Amino acid sequence: MDVRVLGSCGSRVPGHQTSCLLVNGEVVVDAGGITAKLSVDEQAAINHVLISHAHLDHVYDLAFLADNVMASRTSPLSVWAPEEVLTVLKKNLFNDQIWPDLTQVNLAGFPVIELCSLEEGVINKVGPLEVCWARTNHPVFSAGYLLKHAAAAILYSGDTTTTDELWQMAKDEEKLQAVFVETSFPDRLASLAVETGHLTPSLLASELVKLDKSQVAVKIFHMKPQYLQEISSDLKAHRISCQILSGNERFTF
Ligand SMILES: [Zn+2]
Ligand SMILES: [Zn+2]
Repeated sequence: MDVRVLGSCGSRVPGHQTSCLLVNGEVVVDAGGITAKLSVDEQAAINHVLISHAHLDHVYDLAFLADNVMASRTSPLSVWAPEEVLTVLKKNLFNDQIWPDLTQVNLAGFPVIELCSLEEGVINKVGPLEVCWARTNHPVFSAGYLLKHAAAAILYSGDTTTTDELWQMAKDEEKLQAVFVETSFPDRLASLAVETGHLTPSLLASELVKLDKSQVAVKIFHMKPQYLQEISSDLKAHRISCQILSGNERFTF
């Protein structure tokens, strides 16, 4: 599995994009940094977009990706999420007001995008990947994803504060090689983190105990950029073995 990090922050400042992974060149996980990082040809090679939840930092580039590639595609761009998330996207983004309803725009005998529901509790086939999801603990309906391809599996937390279901799903996966997990705020702002459905380094430490797989690589994303240094210091203080993502990494699992 080839994983390119296109965005790794919880907000946008110069040099930093929001949450976004590109897997095997054709599946995007959350629509943060797509159009800032990829050429139009690379954008046209994307066939599937997985969305964890409908918050703006995870969906805004759906609009611009679809706009950039709609005339060059030979099939619909598939947007995958649990039904609850798709309903919000349809009502509030692709609603002919904020953005055109691209599920109804046919340029060459097929719609520009198709909304595809991910079933709960089963393996969903998304392009080359097998995808399972667990609901996370966030103010809006939100999913964390387990992605499998050949001999490797990775976990992508999306946005969440403490939760058991996500970590149980990861713990049960024998091929798990890495977890991409959010850590949005420093320990000092723990009450704000919990109130807004996010993790701090201290809360992350307790979540990793639930995973109980010390050999699995831990990749940190969704840091609010103004707290990067403080989050980094807190992670060191808790002796959490991890990599804070800058938004430009590439991994092979
Ligand atoms: Zn969110
Ligand atoms: Zn977010």
